[in-house]
Amino acid sequence: MLFAIGVIGAVIGSFVNVVSLRVAKREDFIHGRSYCPHCHHRLCALDLLPIFSYLFLRGKCRWCKHSISIRYLLVEITFAILFVLVAFLKQPMEVRGYFFCTMCMLVALIDFDSFEVDLRMLLILVIGYFCFRMNSVEEAMLSMMSGLVLYFTVYGIGKWVWKEEVLGMGDVYYLATLGLYFSPSQILFVGLFSFVVAGGVVIGWMMLSKRNKVHEKIPFAPFISNSALLTYLFSIQWI
Ligand SMILES: [Zn+2]
Repeated sequence: MLFAIGVIGAVIGSFVNVVSLRVAKREDFIHGRSYCPHCHHRLCALDLLPIFSYLFLRGKCRWCKHSISIRYLLVEITFAILFVLVAFLKQPMEVRGYFFCTMCMLVALIDFDSFEVDLRMLLILVIGYFCFRMNSVEEAMLSMMSGLVLYFTVYGIGKWVWKEEVLGMGDVYYLATLGLYFSPSQILFVGLFSFVVAGGVVIGWMMLSKRNKVHEKIPFAPFISNSALLTYLFSIQWI
């Protein structure tokens, strides 16, 4: 049973991978067949098996032998693990859990590919809340408002003190939307934990690359998704 759920996770992961890349390239992400981004050869079922195709073809396109990004494999494995965790820690029939994981990963990957939090995906998260009702409407509204006020304040202070955006407006909207799925204290945790992890990664990267300043833009939504998934999966309550 867990194996079957892992396979479903990997299949959805492979679809999400394609969607995020197509959103970044501003292509139609629902229709259109999969093709090799290098030689544009259409891919057949054998090339599209999640995880196995990558291992089987040793990470190379069957047609042009150009190497395929390891990201496909990593995302598919992450999805398989996430889905198994939902089944194991929650319930195997926890559809809303699978939905929540998929959307958090999708927002993270789109931000990673295009440095943008896709508002359409946030809208799907809002619709999903009303379909699944993970907590009461009162609590959801309270968490959403506290998320919005809190992270908008952080955004404002960052802009005022450093004259730079410490987090994008898209990240503020994303955190506020996630409020629908959490309690007010959890949404505080999600944000703070993302800042701590992102800070750690930036400092680690600066030490490794021996630079004392980072000028590159860093997508923040992957850190938010990471905290949100941990908080959801392990039902973290900290206050
Ligand atoms: Zn190819």
